[in-house]
Amino acid sequence: MMSLFTAPDARPRCLDLAGRGVKDKLMVGGLALLVVAVAVAVFFSIAGSGRIRPGADEMTFICADANCGHVWTMNHEQRQAALAKNPRAPVTDELPRFRCPKCNKASGFQAAVCPSCGKAFVPNVVKRHLRRPVKWPERCPHCGTDIVQWHKDHRSKR
Ligand SMILES: [Zn+2]
Ligand SMILES: [Zn+2]
Repeated sequence: MMSLFTAPDARPRCLDLAGRGVKDKLMVGGLALLVVAVAVAVFFSIAGSGRIRPGADEMTFICADANCGHVWTMNHEQRQAALAKNPRAPVTDELPRFRCPKCNKASGFQAAVCPSCGKAFVPNVVKRHLRRPVKWPERCPHCGTDIVQWHKDHRSKR
């Protein structure tokens, strides 16, 4: 006696049924996608800006603690939530501080991101705020790029 799985004519029939099922699902899926696409288009036309992209408001943060240096990103909502959680929210501080998710110290600041190598580092403005020595011109500690010069060169090439 042959089982369903070894019967030579069972598989083509199964595949055919599955194929039809997939076609129906694709049609339903396509309609759903169309509805979503229209909804998104309407949303953006109402919002009046096509510039909003997922992740576009993500900012990079770096832990200024010398033993940590953790780098992470937060979007606008996460930043607001993090600031709301901090009772010492920057009323007197001109630079917003964030709690480092790695070492849990309130030593997180918005990071500078090197335009050349894309790595994050503690910018001079934060170093000065923390009364640490700063060096000018400001250079990326990873690749040595002069940040101001890079932007000047980049602009003049356009
Ligand atoms: Zn840290
Ligand atoms: Zn760099």
